[in-house]
Amino acid sequence: MGSVKLRMSENLRIKWPDQCAACNNPSTDSATTSITNTTKFRYYVVAMSFTHQTYSFSYPVCKKHKRLCNLLDQSAKSSLLNNTLVFFFCVLILWLILNFLFSSTLKIIGLEIIDQNSIDYWSFMSSLVVATLLIIYSFFLKPVRISNLSEDSMEISIKNDKYLNYFKALNNEHTIK
Ligand SMILES: [Zn+2]
Repeated sequence: MGSVKLRMSENLRIKWPDQCAACNNPSTDSATTSITNTTKFRYYVVAMSFTHQTYSFSYPVCKKHKRLCNLLDQSAKSSLLNNTLVFFFCVLILWLILNFLFSSTLKIIGLEIIDQNSIDYWSFMSSLVVATLLIIYSFFLKPVRISNLSEDSMEISIKNDKYLNYFKALNNEHTIK
């Protein structure tokens, strides 16, 4: 795993190796990766608004990895509100599952005396942790992602080392060392 820093310019055309970014097999499809910058804030007297700036590009993948890559890119494309709703929905589902598991395990080992409130509390806390870990895990699962974007440069992280070397060779003229 490594990253390449490219100089942003109007004539920047990223060249991609003709291989799947995940497994190096011949590419048949393309997947997108995007980044949303929420660094620009505007303050008003009563409210604060964010200005989003989304930047995205496509990269080659095989059929097998296309679905996975597009699924992983969903969260980058949707709004903060949507992501928050999805996050809490996942927490809720996990909470129900863990709550059931905790209560039935305690029943089996004969510890029914532990009150329902603490089961609720601990299963809720566990589901928060599990959902957060899943988000972090899916973030690092992406074969190609934009790790940094500024007005004059863009940093692309590539998991696959072989692919990274091909990429570096192809885009040498735009690379910032
Ligand atoms: Zn593949």
